[in-house]
Amino acid sequence: MNAVDLSLQNAAPAWRSSGGLASLGSRFGTALPPQAVPAPHWVARSEALADELGLSGWLDTPVALEVLAGSAVADGSRPFASVYSGHQFGVWAGQLGDGRALLLGEIETPAGAMELQLKGGGLTPYSRMGDGRAVLRSSIREFLCSEAMHHLGIPTTRALAVVGSPLPVRRESVETAAIVTRIAPSFVRFGHFEHFAHHDQHAALRVLADFVIDAHYPICRDAVNPYAALLEAVARRTATLLADWQAVGFCHGVMNTDNMSILGLTIDYGPFGFLDGFDPGHVCNHSDHQGRYAYARQPNVAMWNLHALAQALLPLIAGDGEVAEATSELALEALEPYRTLFPATLEARMRAKLGLATAQDDDRALIDDWLKLLASERTDFTIAWRRLGTWTPADPSAVRDLFIDRAAFDAWAGRYALRLAAEGSADADRRRSMDRVNPKFVLRNHLCENAIRAAQAGDFAETHRLLKVLERPYDEQVEASAYADFPPDWAQQLEVSCSS
Ligand code: AMP
Ligand code: MG
Repeated sequence: MNAVDLSLQNAAPAWRSSGGLASLGSRFGTALPPQAVPAPHWVARSEALADELGLSGWLDTPVALEVLAGSAVADGSRPFASVYSGHQFGVWAGQLGDGRALLLGEIETPAGAMELQLKGGGLTPYSRMGDGRAVLRSSIREFLCSEAMHHLGIPTTRALAVVGSPLPVRRESVETAAIVTRIAPSFVRFGHFEHFAHHDQHAALRVLADFVIDAHYPICRDAVNPYAALLEAVARRTATLLADWQAVGFCHGVMNTDNMSILGLTIDYGPFGFLDGFDPGHVCNHSDHQGRYAYARQPNVAMWNLHALAQALLPLIAGDGEVAEATSELALEALEPYRTLFPATLEARMRAKLGLATAQDDDRALIDDWLKLLASERTDFTIAWRRLGTWTPADPSAVRDLFIDRAAFDAWAGRYALRLAAEGSADADRRRSMDRVNPKFVLRNHLCENAIRAAQAGDFAETHRLLKVLERPYDEQVEASAYADFPPDWAQQLEVSCSS
């Protein structure tokens, strides 16, 4: 750590007077203070993130609890709720916005400028029928999964802390309130662009796009058409994000355009889930009756969402002229890389998961047939991949025993053995490299549920323990092996709805 980092350590957040979405002004949202939750207490804090951002000392102070509970506004922080719109479940939903999220402002950190956001900080002009609150249950889910995804190496908004409160919050039943502090370079969503496009507010649309380009995609500024370049850059990030999700068996659950990050981050953790048994049709959101956001459909949904973003950017791509056929062609061209980059990235991820060091023509079939094998028996996705790393022709049992149809496994394993031999693969090296990409620990629903139930009873130790395990998902952590077990039978009955 250099001297500058040390000077930031333990300091209060260094709020930037300009920068962040709030600096764009009142067309983009409303400045307002948070509404404090009563009797706040810490539920969880991410020490790893606090360290990265130089906030660990501050986080130990009573002031931090007040700021993150919404009862105090730090000097230099300018709380702001932003307006956006979006398509929900494929249908135009009109105006949405930060109904319970509140940007506190942008801070300077050793990792660059970051926006801080409270989720559950009270009513805003965009709360619609909602109460502006989030419950403890969903806040712990968001907190743990944000950090788990980051440590898996998947782009995501981060979560610094959860503050709890006895404030009653009505959902299907009465629960208690909590506030998650989220951190990201930007929380701008596809829906922000759709909002201004829908209202034909092209000047504001341009301000927003210029802001995003200047702060996050400066290279697009040099392109012949910076807005088409922005669209392409977002399409590329989204493509690799989706490949990352698919490779770890992550289902977002509510891929509405208002839940799509312009930075290609995983954002808005609601009814998400990691696959237990492999089922490509798995729907993790109990309220998603059509299965629109099923695991295997996510990559196509992302493309659908990118089309919605493209539509919103058309007036900017057209420049001073009318939106013409040539404009649409330019936009479609900008999306085209998604079609090649997503499958190519996923294939690369899958090759690495198989421990293949080279790329061969038949790899696609080897990957597909492995996945078919897993699907045919609903074999546990995480365990199967992790155990495949231990597989050798002489000692196949750990993974082979996962299958009822041993002959089917043996037939596939025979091809795998030939493929490995063809590239002169060494088992020990292969296992090491596979262990770096096939996590032993993911945030399975039942693990999260255990942490939530304990927290609801006032015991936050399990949330902290689970966080610590999830911070090292690729390490063996023998002492934590229970967290890598098959899910218990009761996990199948867990239903995750949109209610949060
Ligand atoms: P979500 O489905 O969580 O992505 O939320 C969709 C929209 O509903 C966003 O504009 C949220 O801000 C808003 N929203 C969700 N829950 C609440 C709530 N309890 N109070 C106010 N707004 C909410
Ligand atoms: Mg949302």
